[in-house]
Amino acid sequence: MGYREIIERAIDTGREVLPEHEAYQVCEEFGIAYPPTRFATTREETVEAAESLGYPVVLKIVSPAVVHKSDAGGVIVGIVSQSELKDAYDLLFANVKEKVGDVPIDGVLIQKAMPKAAEVVVGGLKDDLFGPVVMFGSGGILVEIFKDVSFRLAPLDRDEAMRQIKETKAYEILKGVRGAPPSDLDALADLIVNAGKLLSALPEIKELDFNPVFAGSDGSVVVDARMVIGS
Ligand code: ADP
Ligand code: MG
Repeated sequence: MGYREIIERAIDTGREVLPEHEAYQVCEEFGIAYPPTRFATTREETVEAAESLGYPVVLKIVSPAVVHKSDAGGVIVGIVSQSELKDAYDLLFANVKEKVGDVPIDGVLIQKAMPKAAEVVVGGLKDDLFGPVVMFGSGGILVEIFKDVSFRLAPLDRDEAMRQIKETKAYEILKGVRGAPPSDLDALADLIVNAGKLLSALPEIKELDFNPVFAGSDGSVVVDARMVIGS
């Protein structure tokens, strides 16, 4: 299914936020990397998906009622075996039920666990005056406490994205700290450029949130994608 269809179906069914796996499909068409991911609706399908991906995997809830999955106990990382996966599947549903109640659940995502890397955030929004804008900044608590973000109008080229990265404190971490290898900045800049292209090409997307992006030493991968439809 192409991104046009994905977005049109979301609009037709009154969904404001694209399910995560559909957001990845949109990413795919703009050359934005994400982990090997499968969607499943039963425990059996979940096991099959994990076996085909190979462990370790991450399990995530997919529900229009759950926006911040971790807050609802809706993300379980570091699953290394089939028996752990089965337990994690039950735990995931129990967590969500306890924290959010009996909400509609589409299914789960089984995602290949990505190796540790510097975590950053790439986002986007549509400004009433300026049009599409891309945001880059520190991931995790740094973005909340230090407001370490920089903005650019989209579309933008790689040099501009590189300047955007270098404006932030995140850059200091990306250069490599405490023995960690430096991140591949070209790959990260390309991801920002592609996020800008996506926003420019799809005016229906009013908000974009790649949080986090794993900025590794040999490539950048989006491990959580949120796209909000609207005008
Ligand atoms: P939330 O909706 O809570 O933001 P995320 O999908 O971002 O959920 O997952 C929460 C955290 O789990 C991420 O910030 C990241 O650190 C970790 N994580 C998620 N997916 C993966 C993955 N595929 N590999 C490794 N770590 C992951
Ligand atoms: Mg996230």
